Amino acid sequence: MPRGRCAVDPVGDLGVRGGMQDLVIHDTPIAPGTDAIVRIPIAQLPTGTAVDLPVHVYRAEADGLCLLLQGGLHGDELNGVEILRRMVADGSCRPTRGTVLVVPVLNLFGFLAGSRELPDGKDINRSFPGSARGSLASRVAHAHMTHVFPPVNVAIDFHTGGGRRHNEPQVRFTEGDADSEALAEVFAAPYRFATKPIPRSFRREAAKRDVPVLVYEAGETLRFDERAIAEGIAGARRVMVHLGIADEAPAPGPSLAIGATRWVRSPKAGLFSPAVAPGQVVDKGDALGTITDPYNIHVRTVSAPTAGHVICLNQLPLVHRGDALIRIGRPAQEQP
Ligand SMILES: [Zn+2]
Repeated sequence: MPRGRCAVDPVGDLGVRGGMQDLVIHDTPIAPGTDAIVRIPIAQLPTGTAVDLPVHVYRAEADGLCLLLQGGLHGDELNGVEILRRMVADGSCRPTRGTVLVVPVLNLFGFLAGSRELPDGKDINRSFPGSARGSLASRVAHAHMTHVFPPVNVAIDFHTGGGRRHNEPQVRFTEGDADSEALAEVFAAPYRFATKPIPRSFRREAAKRDVPVLVYEAGETLRFDERAIAEGIAGARRVMVHLGIADEAPAPGPSLAIGATRWVRSPKAGLFSPAVAPGQVVDKGDALGTITDPYNIHVRTVSAPTAGHVICLNQLPLVHRGDALIRIGRPAQEQP
């Protein structure tokens, strides 16, 4: 059975991948029933201080699948970092069978600077699979794929809305990939939908290696959002139970399958005041908000071009013409 197929059929051929008896992360062997924090050297500061990528490794006594939980691929997306920190703190990422790898912060430079990218402006999530001799982003991607990824059967990549947009908790799976779709159903975030993996993204690279990846998106950059954090932890636990590497998880709440989504863009520059809240259901023609100028000379109402759920909402008042204001998701069963 190729790896990744296990996602929808977790029983059976566990511990594929050439024998998990020999689990080695970077240069550290991890025996069954032990934990480790492996520090993978990735860079050096101008001061000469070494920068390494810490990876928590939790290996149960009993054999089983290997799940990767990662956050901070975009350095300013902190909810994922906090989801993983809490799972480490309370032990909820510890498997009863198999292995869990936790990388709380993949983009350490962006994390320190409060930015999505690395200091050179590159996005690690557009730099996979990377190269040992490439840009810093490319080197980080390469180190991740070389030293962390090889034993992984399934991965969850935790993100938030970028650019000061708030995402209602949602999980994205790969279009046409039944495994990741089944995992998204198990994760049971309030919203779930298919997207095409972006070229050179982590998810695209994982898909090439037949490893299903869920991308969780919740909250906004540089902010903690308690609901986003709680939904992320609960979803990760449900996936662990589904994979047979944990025994208990919170019961799922309602999870709506979204079919098509549509961005509503600003018709003009100005100050955006939303009239709707994240998660709100709107009808076609409903007022979504207004765009004004600071002198209140021009006021323009933004109307919903379609009915659906507000799954993403811009939080930054100052907008330019064409800026993304609101993403509306239509429930899948309402699609023609
Ligand atoms: Zn992101």
